[in-house]
Amino acid sequence: MRQYVIALDQGTTSSRAILFDRTGAIVSQGQYPLPQHYPQPGWVEHDPMDILRTQLMALAEAYEKAAVPPGDIAALGVTNQRETAVVWEKDTGRPVMNAIVWQCRRTAEECRRLEKSGIGDYVRQTTGLLLDAYFTGTKIAWILDHVPGARARAERGELLCGTVDSWLIWNLTGAHVSDYSNCSRTMLFDIDRLQWDETLCRALRVPMNILPRPVPNSQVYGKVKPGIRGIEALAGIPVAGAAGDQQAALFGQGCLAPGQAKNTYGTGCFTLMNTGEQSLRSENGLLTSVAWQLGGRTSYALEGSVFNAGSTIQWLRDELQLIGAAHETDLLAESVPDNGGVYLVSAFTGLGAPHWDMYARGAILGLTRGATKAHIARAALEGIAYQVADLVSTMEKDLQRPLDSLWVDGGASVSDFMMQFQADLLRCSIYRPAMVETTAAGAAYLAGLAVGLWDSPEEILGSRRLESVFAPRMPLEQAQEYRRQWHRAVSRALKWEA
Ligand code: ADP
Repeated sequence: MRQYVIALDQGTTSSRAILFDRTGAIVSQGQYPLPQHYPQPGWVEHDPMDILRTQLMALAEAYEKAAVPPGDIAALGVTNQRETAVVWEKDTGRPVMNAIVWQCRRTAEECRRLEKSGIGDYVRQTTGLLLDAYFTGTKIAWILDHVPGARARAERGELLCGTVDSWLIWNLTGAHVSDYSNCSRTMLFDIDRLQWDETLCRALRVPMNILPRPVPNSQVYGKVKPGIRGIEALAGIPVAGAAGDQQAALFGQGCLAPGQAKNTYGTGCFTLMNTGEQSLRSENGLLTSVAWQLGGRTSYALEGSVFNAGSTIQWLRDELQLIGAAHETDLLAESVPDNGGVYLVSAFTGLGAPHWDMYARGAILGLTRGATKAHIARAALEGIAYQVADLVSTMEKDLQRPLDSLWVDGGASVSDFMMQFQADLLRCSIYRPAMVETTAAGAAYLAGLAVGLWDSPEEILGSRRLESVFAPRMPLEQAQEYRRQWHRAVSRALKWEA
């Protein structure tokens, strides 16, 4: 019986594959690290053949560990690091150079040039993004401009390009496609018309004939080709769903209704709020992406990030040596009745939305002779929650409705203290699921839905278990007072670096 689905989760530092059963439980997984290349300061590359090789090895490992007949696997889904650009030869599948990774800053100068040319507003209106080197478009143009002969070959239709979803799906099935959520991170895509935008392709100098065909997130794109080394047994299985990692996590967390949001507390935080069929443009520096298209209906999301979240805890451990391990932060925080007036603004690399100040720097304020390391640990955890609350408030302002619920995942979401404080600040319930592999789950659900493994998202999401729910406990006035004080602390950290 067809009862399993496998998600390929191609991340920045590793390639993973997870096999889920039809209740959404994890049966087996495989994982291989992905080599990183830093050819110059600020430049980051991956070898696309490493991406493919590690991903296929992870897939083979998950499949073999599960020991299920291949005929029982209903579909494969794909989720991936977003924005990373790959250009390859149509005939041979050989990449023309390494992939330029989302973190790579090499096209910052080109983005400044584009901004000066006056196209910034058009980018914002059409793509929902801000003109930045982070996104795929200028990375593709860079490859075409720097690999000898590549631009001419692209014009002749000898090359193909895409983000990592495209690269993997093309290698697995031969279909040259990219799902709407990944397309919406390229800076070339009209998120309302769901098409590549001619004006932007011309301005960024990306020939439209090498771009993948934009496709919905839950649909059979093709079947696994026969004879792919290491996964021969999986030939014929449909590849039936794809989404960028953050959108997949939003889906995997079950945030299907407007006003529902997820936050991943990792090294940094990634917050996405479902805004339904409205593709809003933020007045406050948030990004708009396609979340997914399912059953012909497009959902959009507002997105923002906190640059330093879990990294603040690493800093307490490695630089300040206040703690020996991350979990001790919670114990310290709970050992004092309150923050003792101490605020920690972890603006190590500036502050993102809604402050957008690259010159802000970290600060600890409100120290008195009685302040202890417990107060500082507490202020660090609270500081992360304040930054997430600021982001969410901005989203609420843009969407003009309050947050309905926040679903959490990521390494630092295990902090009960921080989750409780987050609920107190946001004044809504916070849900922490038992199954934290939300990104892979999202890709698996999208693929399973396309092949009828589940009839509706509700069917699969209904069977999920929650590990904890945090409801607001602190009186509203006190939470408001804390937030006022936090904003005073932030104002002191702004524009510090001259
Ligand atoms: P990423 O995917 O960005 O590498 P993870 O989701 O693996 O991050 O989360 C790792 C982060 O979580 C680290 O920065 C670490 O400091 C933080 N972390 C882990 N455990 C705790 C804890 N108990 N309390 C607070 N932060 C924690």
